[in-house]
Amino acid sequence: MRVAVGLVLCMLMACIPAASAQFDPEQLYAWPGDPVDSHVHMTWAALTMEVNEWADDYPEIVDLTSAGESELGKTLWVVRLSDWSMDTKPNGSAKEIIYIDGGHHGNEYLGTALAWLSAKWYINGWVEGNEEAITVLQNTELHILIMLNPDGNDFDTRWNINQVDLNRNYDHYWNTCPTTQPGSSAFSEAETAANAAYINAHVTDADLYVTMHTGVWIILYPWGKWPEQPPDWELFWRIRDDVQANISEIPIQNANQGLYPNCGTSRDYGYGQMGFPTFTFETDDEQFVPGSFENINDRLAEEMDVMRFLIENVWYWRARLDVQSITVSDDDVALEVVNNGLASTANASLEYHSLTGEVLWASPYFTANASNLTSVSFEVDDDVFDADGRWNLNYQKRVINAATWVNESVDSNLTVFLDDEDDRFLAGVGLFNPVAVMLGIIGVAVLVRSEDEDCEEIGPQS
Ligand SMILES: [Zn+2]
Repeated sequence: MRVAVGLVLCMLMACIPAASAQFDPEQLYAWPGDPVDSHVHMTWAALTMEVNEWADDYPEIVDLTSAGESELGKTLWVVRLSDWSMDTKPNGSAKEIIYIDGGHHGNEYLGTALAWLSAKWYINGWVEGNEEAITVLQNTELHILIMLNPDGNDFDTRWNINQVDLNRNYDHYWNTCPTTQPGSSAFSEAETAANAAYINAHVTDADLYVTMHTGVWIILYPWGKWPEQPPDWELFWRIRDDVQANISEIPIQNANQGLYPNCGTSRDYGYGQMGFPTFTFETDDEQFVPGSFENINDRLAEEMDVMRFLIENVWYWRARLDVQSITVSDDDVALEVVNNGLASTANASLEYHSLTGEVLWASPYFTANASNLTSVSFEVDDDVFDADGRWNLNYQKRVINAATWVNESVDSNLTVFLDDEDDRFLAGVGLFNPVAVMLGIIGVAVLVRSEDEDCEEIGPQS
């Protein structure tokens, strides 16, 4: 009897591999490539078939478009991922935008594979009902140009067909470092010109740009041109510290420090010209074990964990000012503002607009540091205000000069006018009206309390 049970068990277990092979989840992450030398090589043709299948199979989340063509006329596919049934986030606000590209260097397959996986992970997650993938796609647009240099990719070479290093061909201090093969001028090559055109047409408001390469296992933030830390060092360091504390020990550093100056890169262009928080993500150079196939999701699991962190938290990669109060007295305007983002802003200003939109008063620029409450006050002649005006807050999303400007109206209910000279701000209410007197008392109480709280003015950090 025991032997019989054993036999039945063996037969049952023998069935399991056969059954699971039909539903092999690993196939979901199979790399569409053939081995070339010691690498697994995805041709441009294989990529073309695959991204078109994605668009055919999942039109609700995959919008396939092109950034242009390579020098030899190969389409530069851009996979746009989002829940396209909604133009906005579920809460009605604009979706965050992320730009990713891969394959500047045609022989860096693993970096290109990470760009490919950054699309595939969210497509598979959506199909499988993964909550993180669904939430990201409802709140974010991912624009992913997987293979920027298809001619170089198919010839297994770093350069494009004109023997130009595409990652030295961007219009940011082009050809100002010792370098080889940067091209005849910035954007002389079809691939880089197309990439920049796409960026400037479709993702100018991006809050993350990651460009994928292969070399030394490292993540690089700007600058490549200079050894100094970038103006948004605080944001880059915070991301570095969070990644290294919680996800991966991958080194994260300024692209110039400890390496060599590199100019005309897409990373420095993305930050210096577009104002994006930009990273070069370099996978290791072991590529694939010779003669073996590896599941790309396993091979790049740790790198993908870092990417998922950067993508899921994109909301924080900028300044996000939220006015707490505006108090106007005879000769000054006091503002309290919280920055909910992890980037500082140096060029914030408060404006008072007339009903017709005319700027009646504008504060000087002030700084609001990341994750901080900032209290500032400005001397004013209160004659400039009129009761029907509106407050506007202007600031840049990051410290870098190129950062996008935000222009937001401020909820007028957050304003308190303290005025004992006349009744201009108490529209329709006489000065000695009991309601006006009560409002004045409340206003003074608010002022006294805010002084008790000892709000410090927070200046820029060095
Ligand atoms: Zn590279």
